[in-house]
Formats: sequence, structure tokens, C-alpha cells
Amino acid sequence: MKIIFLGTGGAVPTSARDNTSFLLEMAGELWLVDCPGSLTRKIIKAGREPRRVSAIFISHIHADHVYGLPAFVHSLMLEEKSVRLFGSAETVEFCLRLLDLFGLRKEKISYRVEPVVLTPGLRTELSPGVVVIGWPVPHHTSSLAFFFETPRGRVVFSGDTPVHQPLFERAAGADCLIHDCSTPSRYLDRLPFLQTMHGNSLELGRAAAGAGLRILVPCHFFSDLDFSPHEVETEIRKYYGGRLFIPEDFSCLELEP
Ligand SMILES: [Zn+2]
Ligand SMILES: [Zn+2]
Repeated sequence: MKIIFLGTGGAVPTSARDNTSFLLEMAGELWLVDCPGSLTRKIIKAGREPRRVSAIFISHIHADHVYGLPAFVHSLMLEEKSVRLFGSAETVEFCLRLLDLFGLRKEKISYRVEPVVLTPGLRTELSPGVVVIGWPVPHHTSSLAFFFETPRGRVVFSGDTPVHQPLFERAAGADCLIHDCSTPSRYLDRLPFLQTMHGNSLELGRAAAGAGLRILVPCHFFSDLDFSPHEVETEIRKYYGGRLFIPEDFSCLELEP
């Protein structure tokens, strides 16, 4: 299984990092997780065919996770293909309204978006032996973390969220946890909203230390602020001694079986 990062930044894109989204590639399947920016271009730049995407997952409806969806569908409108769109009930409803604003679900559009509402905690089969579970996290009413359970491993994406212990209990033993790590902890005083909305590297390292993860991937960096990946790593390493992967845009992480 490969995880290809199309963006690794927070709400403010910079020259180094676009807003967070990634591809999951496994056994010929290509799934897109979150939809910011020019996805068609980024997927091509990552060496993949946009038309191969068979499922889209949206973690929540903040603009930096969803604004690229209409443009992605528009760019594929002539393809005779359907794509499943997964999210919470609120997210799916919002996305359909967004597509309808642009007329992207009309009969003449060959590329069909099929909405699938994930009931929190329930298992939904994606393909034989592959399951996704949505799990609410405390960031926005529409927010879901995603648990992908596959024969090649278990991948968890927190979406945007502060460090939330129940998520770490549920993610225990995962092969890969991709988690919100918006800033180092020294920004908590200056930006108090971080405490209830986003993860920081110190708390992430502390929570991950006991979770038995194979790989921890901090992501969603506020790269418009003045900190380095080294500072993030140093804080995580105060508690967490396991494998750590700090992605850049277009990094590819291959999970060995
Ligand atoms: Zn965000
Ligand atoms: Zn958000």
C-alpha cells in the first residue's frame, strides 16, 4: 500500500505546502482523501491518472478540505465513470449542494458522483476485504476520522482534530496514523483556538507513545508560521520512540505488509 501526499499544510497554503490531502493506492485501487487545490494537476504530477480515483473521502466541510471537489469533478465530467463520495451525513449533504451549485450532477455529466454516508462507528465495505469506518472527532460537527482496514494494513487519518484520547485508543496498533499536527506546542498561548481545534507536536508525541503504532505521520502543518519539521520532530520525540514519517508535498510512504 502507498500513501501519496498531495498536500501537507493547514488552511493557509504556502509555496512549500498546499492544504492537506493524500492518495491511498492499493491493489490497483486509488482513493482520494480530502479535496483542496488543483487535484487533477497534483494527481498527474504524482504520476497517477485522475480517472483512476474510485472513491473520495472528505473528513469535514472546512474550505481547505473540500474546495477542490467541484473543479476535480468538472475536469473529469466527460469520463464515463462513477466515483463514490464518503463522509458524514453533514459532509455528504454539503458536498452534493456544492456540486449542484455548478450543475455537476446533471444528466449530461458522464462522471457520476455516488454519495455514501458513513454512520459513525459502522463498517462500510469498499471492496472485498477492505473496510472503512468513520469516527467522530472534536473539530467540527461534520468531522470524521477515517479508519481504513485492508489486508495490507490498517491506516487511520485523524482529519483536523486536537489530540483526542479516544481516537488513540481506537487506533491502537495501527500500521499508520496520519494525524493533525498543526504547530509545535509553543503556539498554544498565541493561538488559543489551537487547543480545541488542532493537534500540536508535543501532545501528539505523548498520545502516540502508548498507542503501539507502526508509523506515526504528523500532517496539516501551519507552514505560514515560523517553525521547522525539526522542531516538530524534537517535540514528538520527547515521548514517542517509534517510526516517524514527516511528509512533504508529493512524499510517498510505502507500507510493507
Ligand atoms: Zn484544515
Ligand atoms: Zn478544519
